[in-house]
Parts: sequence; C-alpha cells; structure tokens
Amino acid sequence: MSKKRILIVEDEPSLVFTLRDTLENEGYDVAIVENGNDALAKIPEFQPDLMLLDIMLPGMSGFEVCKQVRDMKMNFPIIMLTARDQEIDKVTGLNIGADDYMTKPFGVKELLARIQARLRRINTYSKPGPIDVVNIGEVRIQLNESKVYRPDKEIELTTREVELIRFLVANSNEPVSRDTLLEHVWRYEYSTNTRTVDVHISKLRSKIEMHPDDPRYLVTLHGVGYMMKMP
Ligand code: CA
Repeated sequence: MSKKRILIVEDEPSLVFTLRDTLENEGYDVAIVENGNDALAKIPEFQPDLMLLDIMLPGMSGFEVCKQVRDMKMNFPIIMLTARDQEIDKVTGLNIGADDYMTKPFGVKELLARIQARLRRINTYSKPGPIDVVNIGEVRIQLNESKVYRPDKEIELTTREVELIRFLVANSNEPVSRDTLLEHVWRYEYSTNTRTVDVHISKLRSKIEMHPDDPRYLVTLHGVGYMMKMP
C-alpha cells in the first residue's frame, strides 16, 4: 500500500514539529504549510488523503480554507484543529464541510485514532443485510437460529460469530482487513485487538469449514486480512 498523504495547515511551530514527527513515525507522507493561501496552492500538487487544518491562521481562516476546498468539490477528510472549544466553531465547521475536530491541546494517540478512523471510512463497506441462511458447499449456516448444519454435525454459533458472518457475507469476495472487522464487528470494544479477530476467525472456521486447515470459503489474505469467498 502506498503511503497516505497528510497536509498540515498550522502556523504554530511547536505543534507543527510534534505533528510532523508523530505522523512521519506512523508512516504517513507529510506536507506542511503555514497559511490558507499556501494550503490551497499545495493541494493540487500534493493530493492529500487528509488535511489537518488549524482554524486560527494568519490571513485566511481555517473555516475559509475548508469552505474553498469543498467548493472545489474535493472530498478528502478535513480534521480541524482549534484552540477554542466553542460550540459555535463546531457548528460553523460542520456546516462548511469539516469532518472532525480536535481541541488543543490534544493527545497524540487520540489524533492518530481520529486520523485512522477518517482514512478508513474512505473505503466503504457494505452493511450486513437481513440474511437468514448462508449456504457454503455442503454447509448451511442458519443465522436466524445461530446454528451451523453440517453433514457430520450441528454446531451453535455465538452472537459475535453470527455478526462476523453477516459482515463477511455482506462484503463477500472483497478483502476485509482486521481493523475493519474490529471497527464494524467489535466496534472498538475495550481490550480488543487484531489478535482477537484472528482467534475468532480461527474458531469460526472450525465451525463452518469442513477442512479448517485448508479453508475454501473463509480464506486468509496474507498481509491484508480475510475474505469470504462465495460463488
Ligand atoms: Ca494558529
């Protein structure tokens, strides 16, 4: 995967320093400008995937920059940085097309989480539909009963497994990353991580695959995640 590009529009040197350092360490490609005119000039050349935009800038305000970006029909996520925690700012910003807010001073971990969430949302995933039955080979998964009917036995599914199947089936034949599953199936519950996903997938595979060591339907895509292969 190519590096995601983040454009930082901020005039406070110490914050710029921290942001650049943090984001580059996380593997992002970072460009920095100190005012709105430079931001608008930089965008066509840098093609950002996301912009961190300070509100209080010399000259044009962050609001004005945001408005102009949206007027140009550019849809990359914009996270606004503000020193003022005022409701009026949030309303103004949301009305002109900002996606999120960080009030200074903010924690680096929280900022990274927000950035990742915004970038992930660019990849759209289908919402699980109201499916009751999924047939894979000789196995019938009866989601409304939380049961798997196999030629050799019947097995109960946990609620989480049912949710996991629903999401994977709704996005069948598409790669789904562990992070995506954490977001959509676990909804970032406390103390979950990608290992949680692996453990559940493995358990689920032993229930729905006749040969879990050589899965035909719920396959691993190395370095990517998982995919439900459906005919
Ligand atoms: Ca500022």
